[in-house]
Amino acid sequence: KAKNEKEKTMIRFTRQMKEELDEQFTLSNHLRKAIKKEELSVHYQPIVNIDNEEIISAEALLRWNHSQYGYISPTKFIPIAEANGLINEIGEWVLNEVCKQNKKWQEQGFKKIPIAVNISVKQLEEKDFAQKVFSILDTYKLDAQYLELEITESISINNLNNILSELQKLKDKGIKISIDDFGTGYSSLGKLKKLSINKLKIDRSFINDLNGEDENELVTAIIAMANSLGLNIIAEGIETENQLKFLQNKKCIFGQGYLFSKPLIQEEFEKFL
Ligand code: C2E
Ligand code: MG
Ligand code: MG
Ligand code: MG
Repeated sequence: KAKNEKEKTMIRFTRQMKEELDEQFTLSNHLRKAIKKEELSVHYQPIVNIDNEEIISAEALLRWNHSQYGYISPTKFIPIAEANGLINEIGEWVLNEVCKQNKKWQEQGFKKIPIAVNISVKQLEEKDFAQKVFSILDTYKLDAQYLELEITESISINNLNNILSELQKLKDKGIKISIDDFGTGYSSLGKLKKLSINKLKIDRSFINDLNGEDENELVTAIIAMANSLGLNIIAEGIETENQLKFLQNKKCIFGQGYLFSKPLIQEEFEKFL
């Protein structure tokens, strides 16, 4: 009987795996056509000075609205795009879209702010990535100080050399680099120094743990470390006044989260600007 149960479990397990693979395969195929079908768009989430809620920058967040399936989360389709190689094309589309839009806002007389674009490590592994970025800035005549790039912490050590050289070119041009989701990966102090990044974004999961007056050694230590390295810190996912109060007490200056604003469509974001 035990063997029977085991077999059943195996069958259920393989079926589930197959369904997941089928789904990924289907999504992968749809994603190939998403750009042409104009199903992708960019939302903008304000990043503010948490003491006065003044907007200092924004993060561009990719959205995929599929004609049949509806909204699909980037946490689902970005990994697929990274696996099937589409991320380079999609990432370039996002960069174009954001630079074009930011230039337009500047020409319309809105407050000039940098906009941060999430970059996959796969893009940084391209030999001519920095050059691609420069030519996009050129196309829209956008000054480099108005583009920032966010990379997630888990950079594979294998490709560190090419990544470092592309990052250096970008930095030399005046493009600021942030480490995203800090605390969830493997960054050591040494690696952060080597990467010579400008900003550090504390992952939402740590902010979620904050509880008003209670001490939180981890977040306190991250903020202190970033301050001593001369890095700007941005707290991600601030949702409550209690979380805000904690961060203000610890001299974290910048933040983003639903407490200030959700990611907004272009028209809504203009009101914020
Ligand atoms: P991320 O870069 O860490 O972006 C922050 C995520 O937290 C966004 O999720 C945002 O909507 C969400 N968020 C912001 N404030 C709050 C809050 O107060 N509460 C909660 N619960 N969530 C909040 P989103 O838009 O679903 O994006 C998920 C991830 O997908 C991003 O995480 C990023 O890693 C990736 N992603 C999004 N757009 C792009 C892109 O254009 N290129 C690449 N490579 N990755 C992208
Ligand atoms: Mg990000
Ligand atoms: Mg993040
Ligand atoms: Mg994240």
